[in-house]
Order: sequence, then structure tokens, then C-alpha cells
Amino acid sequence: MITVEEAFELIDQQIVDFGFEEIVFQDCLGRVVAEDIVADRDFPPYHRAAMDGIAILHADFDKGIRDYKIVGQQIAGISQQALEGEATCIEIMTGAILPAGADTIIRYEDTEIVEGQARVNLEGIHQGANVHIQGKDCEKGVVMIPKGKTLNIGDLGIIASVGKEKLKVKKLPKVAVISTGDELVEVGDQPKEYQIRKSNVHTIAGLLQKQGIEFTLHHFDDDFDVIKSGLEEIVQHHQVIMMSGGVSMGKKDFIPEALEAIGVKKHFHRVKQRPGKPLWFGSNEKVTVFGFPGNPVSTLVCYTAYFKRWLQKSTGLTVNKTTAQLSVDVEFKPDLFYFMPVSLQFEGATLTATPHKGHGSGDLVNLSKMDGFICFPKPGAPKGKDLYRAGESFEIIFPV
Ligand code: AMP
Ligand code: MG
Repeated sequence: MITVEEAFELIDQQIVDFGFEEIVFQDCLGRVVAEDIVADRDFPPYHRAAMDGIAILHADFDKGIRDYKIVGQQIAGISQQALEGEATCIEIMTGAILPAGADTIIRYEDTEIVEGQARVNLEGIHQGANVHIQGKDCEKGVVMIPKGKTLNIGDLGIIASVGKEKLKVKKLPKVAVISTGDELVEVGDQPKEYQIRKSNVHTIAGLLQKQGIEFTLHHFDDDFDVIKSGLEEIVQHHQVIMMSGGVSMGKKDFIPEALEAIGVKKHFHRVKQRPGKPLWFGSNEKVTVFGFPGNPVSTLVCYTAYFKRWLQKSTGLTVNKTTAQLSVDVEFKPDLFYFMPVSLQFEGATLTATPHKGHGSGDLVNLSKMDGFICFPKPGAPKGKDLYRAGESFEIIFPV
């Protein structure tokens, strides 16, 4: 059986480039941009009023002038006005272009306006006060968002501002999510005493949806021929298959055999980890296949640790990880990498992880308490150890 680190290496050897596609900017959140986004103008594009007030020439103020004749209004969205010589001002609104001849804005709060005159109640003000200088945030022609970045909400605003109605992003794979098992019934069905409702495929579907990945849902009963012919069909139309169940040692665990029968090459089967030891991973020229063990905690751990890693390397998507300090000692004797559900909270400035051991990999009830999985031992450590101590820091990985 291989180690988690070895499994990661094998995953890293199966990275696929899905190319790029053009999308409308409204759909870009969370996608990896495949072109540089360049400033089409300066940001801000003109000297912009940062406050409502009056625009003056600072040299006038320096001369001791405190009373200014109001010679116009500079509203946001109208063309540039101009001062009319010494001791004149223009009322100006936030977002408006600075009038010609002016270089400083005094807030209404610091003025008294009486009969067309503005009196300034300030001892001092610096030149350029309350003016957001043209090009201060970014100059025209500069790359604002580099190719390869996962786009966040700030990027969406930038993309709108530079007028990119359409943009190139890295394409995401089309995924088939397959549940297997005779005991599984639909969410809307009433299970018999010996049956359960499907949950894994729906948790995976929820995660894929959040990631913006297109997917289809399927189900196979535990029948070799059904699985084999079903897979043959699905392989034609998807670039990834994610299956839950049917990869363990049970009499009805036909998935590995069926995958190999249709020509999907196994890269590994079984990893020295808990949970999720029976994980199966393979591919052919058309499709990459993740065979997750069916227990809900195993499925979620394998999705988080393996699928997301592969997805990130294949598409450049950012994967959220952090480190946190363990809040209590955790004893774990087996010589296995251990992914344990934890909740996270700040204690002062320290992010701490509280373990939720639960009742094993079948305990989906326990997952409700979880923010992520803590990774024992630290990746790269040669061997499991018996005790992880409170106060030690470990990596946390997140399904979402
Ligand atoms: P298996 O990996 O097929 O041996 O399944 C291990 C356990 O996970 C069994 O108790 C299954 O009933 C359960 N299981 C398998 N698939 C799902 C699913 N889609 N949703 C919830 N539980 C599942
Ligand atoms: Mg099964």
C-alpha cells in the first residue's frame, strides 16, 4: 500500500490541461483567468472628488483667503467646470471630476455656505486634500489581474470597470458523479429497514456546484455488467468520473475490476490513510477517475485531499489551506496518515482546531460540526506518530 505522499505524486503525474473558454464577465467569479486583464484607462481615470464640498486652489488658501465665491457646481457625471480666478470655488460632489484650476477639496463639514459664498473654517489643509489623483491606483496599460489568478469578488469589479464583457478563463472538466450500492435509495424515497438514502453524491454535487463545475448524477446497482456498460457510456461524455462506494474488499465491490475492464488504467488503489484507505485512482486518454470509498467521511476526505489537488493542478484554481493549532492532545496509534474533522475558532490571534473524532468514517452526523480536516502527520513527515500535542500546528484542508 502506498503512502499519502506517494499518492499525491501519482496524482500530480496525471494533470490534464482542459484549455480555455470565453465566458461573460458575470460568470467569472471563482474561475481562473486565462488572459491578463489590463487597465484600459488610469484608475481613477480623472482627478476624482473623494468628498462632497468645495474645490479651491490651494495657493489661495495659502495666501490666507478663507472666503470663496461659488462660481458653479461640479456634479458627478457632468463635464469639467473651471474656477474663475482668485478666491473662487466650485461646489463639488463625490465622484465628480476636479474642476480646472482647482487642486484641493474642502469638505462641506469644514465650510459655511451663505448667499453664494463659502467660508472655510480650517486652520490648515494640504494641497490635494480629498482628491483621488488620476492614475493613483493603477495606470493605463498596467496588468491589473494577471493570467492564472482565481478571480475573486474584487476582480469581478475590475473586469466590469475595464469593460471586459467577455473574457478567457481556464475550462473546467465535465464531471460524472456516480453512486453505487444496492442499499441506496433516492432522497425523496422512503428507505426500507435495510436501505439508506444517498448522501455522498449530493455532497459532492454541492461542492462541484460551488466550484462552478458542470456535472451529471448517476447510479449503479452492485452488478458488474451494469457497472461496466454504464461506465462505458459515461466515459464518452465526461472528463472526470467520481464514484462513491464499491472500491473496498466486499463481495460486491466491482468498481476497480469494471474500470480496468473498460480500459481505465489504475494508478493506485489503497492508500495508508484514515479514513479512505480503499481509494482508487486511474485514467485513460479520455477520462480521470476517482473511486472514493462509500463511507461519507471517506468520500469527503478523498474529494478534499485528492480531487481538489488534481483540479488545482489541472486548472490552476486556488485551493484553500491553512494551518491551525491543535486545541487538545490527539492520540492516534496506527501508522497511517490521519485526516480528522475539526472545527476552527480564533483564540485571541491564534487559529485553533478542535477535533471531532466521531464514530469512524460512516459517521456523517459528525460532519456537521466540521470546518475542515486536520492533517496528521504534517505532510512530508516520514511516519505516523502516536500523539499529536495540543499547541502543535498542522495543516487544515477544506472541502469547500
Ligand atoms: P462501500 O464503499 O460501497 O463499501 O460503502 C461503504 C459504506 O458507505 C456503506 O455503508 C454504504 O452504504 C455507504 N455509502 C455508499 N455510497 C453512499 C452514498 N452515495 N451515500 C451515502 N452512503 C453511501
Ligand atoms: Mg457499496
